[in-house]
Amino acid sequence: MAIKMPAEGARRVAIAGGGLAGLTCAKYLVDAGLQVTVVESLPFLGGRASTYRDQDGEWVEQGLHIFLGVYSEFMTLLNEIGQFADDILFWMDDVHYQDRDGHHATYGLNPIHAPLKTLFRALSQNDYLGILDKLSIVPLAAPAFASLEAIQKNYDGLTVTEWWRKAGGREDVMQRVLRPLCRGLQFTDPDQFSAYDFLGWAHNAIYGIRNIRLGGYEGARDDLIFAPLGRYLTDRGATIRTGTPLRAIHCDAAGGRVEGFELDHGERVEADAYVVAVPPWIFAPLMPSALREQTFFAEIANLPVAPAISVQIWFDRAVTGGPGFYLVARTHAPVYQEQSPHTYPVARGSRISVIVSPADELLDLEDDALVRMVVESIGSVNQVVADAVVTKSVVLKHRQHLVRPLPGAMSARPQQRTPVPNLFLAGDWTQQEFFGSQEGAVRGGKYCAREVRCALLPDLPRSRV
Ligand SMILES: Cc1cc2nc3c(=O)[nH]c(=O)nc-3n(C[C@H](O)[C@H](O)[C@H](O)COP(=O)(O)OP(=O)(O)OC[C@H]3O[C@@H](n4cnc5c(N)ncnc54)[C@H](O)[C@@H]3O)c2cc1C
Repeated sequence: MAIKMPAEGARRVAIAGGGLAGLTCAKYLVDAGLQVTVVESLPFLGGRASTYRDQDGEWVEQGLHIFLGVYSEFMTLLNEIGQFADDILFWMDDVHYQDRDGHHATYGLNPIHAPLKTLFRALSQNDYLGILDKLSIVPLAAPAFASLEAIQKNYDGLTVTEWWRKAGGREDVMQRVLRPLCRGLQFTDPDQFSAYDFLGWAHNAIYGIRNIRLGGYEGARDDLIFAPLGRYLTDRGATIRTGTPLRAIHCDAAGGRVEGFELDHGERVEADAYVVAVPPWIFAPLMPSALREQTFFAEIANLPVAPAISVQIWFDRAVTGGPGFYLVARTHAPVYQEQSPHTYPVARGSRISVIVSPADELLDLEDDALVRMVVESIGSVNQVVADAVVTKSVVLKHRQHLVRPLPGAMSARPQQRTPVPNLFLAGDWTQQEFFGSQEGAVRGGKYCAREVRCALLPDLPRSRV
């Protein structure tokens, strides 16, 4: 198929932010023949999902990223740029649970792909979750069968802890499953985690049950996603400027129209439509006062924000049995994955990627102390880790890295279309069904592109938008 370049005089769109949302938005806009410019502050694309080479020439990732089999729009995007999901991902059908009190279990995820294994594992391993614990989960999952709108209406006022207590949930299930899951999903404890967000994930899993699997990447995301996506865009006439931060947003005095994006040294980018695809904590201080005075934008500035800490550790020996995904109860290292077999092969030994959460009280710890804490936590459930020698480690701390999923926060996320007719929003923090995630970012970007196309190409049939 011939590649479509923008026609002479094509309408122009300026996008600030080269993360998954900004790039997805750009992809669907170049497909529509629009002239797109993306400005990204970092020297590479991918934002919070990015990977980059460190001073040793080794790939480092912003954080452990798991791809859920229910990420349908992300898969569509990958297929459309020729990076087929089954080529760039390996799939895992189970999750290992470990408790520092010594108990552990491996539960299957997909009763359709692997019915016998999933059933057998669910019915056995009763020292991790007892029979009563397991039976108690079944009616508790009932709210997740409702529509997302109903879940939002009924559960966004409650935290996971409040919902669980109200529903008579059992303490062992909370400590061994829910708490590490909440810490792993959005780096937040259940008492700060909206039950709407949590049950929304359960809803997406239930309705996507055929595809419930965990995907790990077969390499660095820069190679697998962001470089190919960048090429897809530039091949279609887009301009991508990395290392180029948005410094200011200019709008008219009444805040009724954006007039330009200002970059370094006063350089100005002018376009027919402007997309803000930076996170809300970056957008808020850039908002001109004429925008900030409007309720829509003031609410964005008020979205609660949480930190994140990611730790990657290299060991002198193999510390796990394979590329598994582990949830660890009662530690601040609730999620880790062995990455040496597939994602980042190492000549000898292991390499694990760990999410440290909740991160709030750990941000001021020195990197060495954080690494020691992670090794002690995982070593408490895996003796090989405790005995192994750490040969290298990387710690990445971000004071602001996601919208904190407090009750009400997910409902307060803005739509992609704003009250300013030529200003649009893209991001995992805008309204879409997959909360703060890669799929959420892709959907946020795609929905944004749809709004921009409706605004700039009103004659395009709606079915093609
Ligand atoms: C540690 C960690 C682990 C995660 N694990 C998972 C996971 O396992 N599974 C999953 O699905 N999701 C995971 N996520 C979530 C996922 O990474 C995000 O939801 C997604 O990447 C957000 O994409 P985005 O485009 O909305 O935002 P971002 O990726 O933040 O993109 C915004 C872009 O704007 C750029 N920018 C910032 N300031 C400026 C400026 N002034 N001018 C221009 N550009 C600017 C940033 O550099 C960035 O590239 C994880 C996130 C983190 C932090």
